[in-house]
Amino acid sequence: AKNTARNTMQFFDPRMQESINRRATDESDLYTAIENGQFELHYQIQVDGDGTPTGAEALIRWRHPERGLVSPAEFIPLAEETGQILPIGRWVINAACAQLRLWQSDPLMRHLTLSFNISSRQFQQPEFPRIVRRALQRHAAPADHLKIELTESVLLDNAEHAIAVMQQLRELGIRFSLDDFGTGYSSLQYLKRLPLDQLKIDQSFIHDISTDSGDLSIVQAIMAMASKLGFEVIAEGVETHEQRELLASIGCFAYQGYLFGRPVSATALLGTTEAVARA
Ligand code: C2E
Ligand code: CA
Ligand code: CA
Ligand code: CA
Repeated sequence: AKNTARNTMQFFDPRMQESINRRATDESDLYTAIENGQFELHYQIQVDGDGTPTGAEALIRWRHPERGLVSPAEFIPLAEETGQILPIGRWVINAACAQLRLWQSDPLMRHLTLSFNISSRQFQQPEFPRIVRRALQRHAAPADHLKIELTESVLLDNAEHAIAVMQQLRELGIRFSLDDFGTGYSSLQYLKRLPLDQLKIDQSFIHDISTDSGDLSIVQAIMAMASKLGFEVIAEGVETHEQRELLASIGCFAYQGYLFGRPVSATALLGTTEAVARA
């Protein structure tokens, strides 16, 4: 019997067992993380054509007691599967509103827009508008400085509902950006119906924009489409001066990427923004 078991075991990929173990740990660890406040928001600056800061995107990190700082790619997909994204997402909204309130007392920060990300599941929950409204109230944060980043999947799941929720929140002054734009497929017809303010061009189109004429054409087409529909455009993943200059040459004057700053703690963001202001 022992031999049979051993023979059977040979069909298992040990890495697969490892990933099952890891996953089990993660799921219960995530509960601990939620209860013990192990999440942090880091902020990545967004700038205009002159390089002047206009906003920042909040990006979640998990301060794990053993693993250190864990990136969202390693736990957001699992949290979406298990539903833990709901309490995590609620925490994000509250932390973002608290930060936005803090910026109001700093002359360098108070004009910045704060963007945050949400998952489809979160957006579909009936309480979502109330969670946002309550967070704004609780922290006395200005709604017109808040921007929500959605992906096309959020809108495809239940477009009518999504549009209704967006309209409600827009009445408060909140704005919406369509994240990872170009990676899904939205028809013009469909985009036209969405109460959006901004398209965020996915970094995969920016990466090779200076060497791949196909990517450049796509970005040009997005610029043309956005201007017809009255949406702003921001390019994400801008890493080089060359990319920035090329984007400017085709009329794109809003950028986010390592060229301007990596995601950093709120304190570090304040420091670099002060340095930019002095320069
Ligand atoms: P995203 O919303 O598309 O965020 C942009 C990602 O690109 C971030 O990764 C950012 O650090 C990275 N990035 C920014 N500039 C550059 C650049 O110049 N070059 C390169 N190579 N990368 C750049 P991050 O922070 O690891 O986040 C990954 C994803 O996790 C996000 O993608 C978003 O989908 C998700 N996420 C982050 N925070 C939250 C959150 O609070 N809630 C939800 N639901 N999802 C989140
Ligand atoms: Ca985003
Ligand atoms: Ca993105
Ligand atoms: Ca993405």
